[in-house]
Amino acid sequence: MSRAFNFSAGPAVMPEEVLQQAAAEMLDWHGSGMSVMEMSHRGKEFISIYEQAEADLRELLAVPANFKILFMQGGGLAENAIVPMNLSQGGAMDFVLTGSWSQKSQKEAGKYGAARVAASAQADGFTSLPSPPSWHIGADSRYVHICGNETIHGVEFHELPDLKALGCDAPLVVDFSSHVASRQVDWSRVGLAFGGAQKNLGPAGLTLVIVREDLIGHALPHCPSAFDYKLVADNQSMYNTPPTYSIYIAGLVFQWLKKHGGIAAMEQRNIAKAQLLYDCLDNSALYVNKVDKACRSRMNVPFFLRDESRNDAFLTGANARGLLQLKGHKSVGGMRASIYNAMPLEGVQALVDYLREFEKTQA
Ligand SMILES: *Cc1c(COP(=O)(O)O)cnc(C)c1O
Repeated sequence: MSRAFNFSAGPAVMPEEVLQQAAAEMLDWHGSGMSVMEMSHRGKEFISIYEQAEADLRELLAVPANFKILFMQGGGLAENAIVPMNLSQGGAMDFVLTGSWSQKSQKEAGKYGAARVAASAQADGFTSLPSPPSWHIGADSRYVHICGNETIHGVEFHELPDLKALGCDAPLVVDFSSHVASRQVDWSRVGLAFGGAQKNLGPAGLTLVIVREDLIGHALPHCPSAFDYKLVADNQSMYNTPPTYSIYIAGLVFQWLKKHGGIAAMEQRNIAKAQLLYDCLDNSALYVNKVDKACRSRMNVPFFLRDESRNDAFLTGANARGLLQLKGHKSVGGMRASIYNAMPLEGVQALVDYLREFEKTQA
């Protein structure tokens, strides 16, 4: 058996050690005689898995005590509705549009209240970030939404905006689906962060919400009970059956992160991986990444061949070398390499070697 290097944007590469441990524990978890997916979510075995996962995540991300960690379902897209149902209180919200995902969030929130555009980078094809002092945030804003890392356009906030410094008291909501656990978070600037697990944490089916306590308990009357943060928090994410197996696997990923030096070490590795790849693209006559260097994503690297007629040949050659899922998102075309936490440096090096080799054959 040989494992390929998988550059999928999500569901995405998992740490091999985690997959091996899950395989070894598949039939009989720790002498319980059961697989984790067969356990009651209210039994002592699963409760211990859940409590360990939550404690590890809180430690890894340095989540302050006045934030709740919620394990939900529905993915990032469901949170686009669940956040306004819980935080808007029927008032207006402000969105910073930096790519497809923030656009989707703003559109969905419009079903629940006034979803205003505070700033947009659409005019330059979502290759830059509008600087926070230029944002138009209403004085009555219930919250300000950003997408921390735009998975499709490859644009990332390397510093979270300090809304207080902009004279804004509204909480910041961050969609961190595709860069959660890849870098440290300044929680003093955040009211709520959410993300699906399938990019950087584990299997699809689990959605992580980390929310400041004072923002809980204000859901709109028609908010489904299973999506009311207060009910979810008061029931330790077990108001209804949580995605138990996905929580278990995410918990193994948290242990893997701790074993390999935690988020600070992971962030350094991610910086090195991204630099290796961007340097290769920037020093080539064939490939191009159009994103402003100040906000290039460390997780998702979209790039184009200047001669697009070579796209199919490029992908065929990549697949033959075990470099998988490099095709760009259909809305932007070209290529995209997602290099999440679980992608080793050797995988990025193998991609860079191939990029150089393919370019030479085109000369
Ligand atoms: C993948 C992604 C989503 C959507 O997640 P689903 O789990 O498919 O709903 C939302 N936001 C960002 C930034 C993403 O990368």
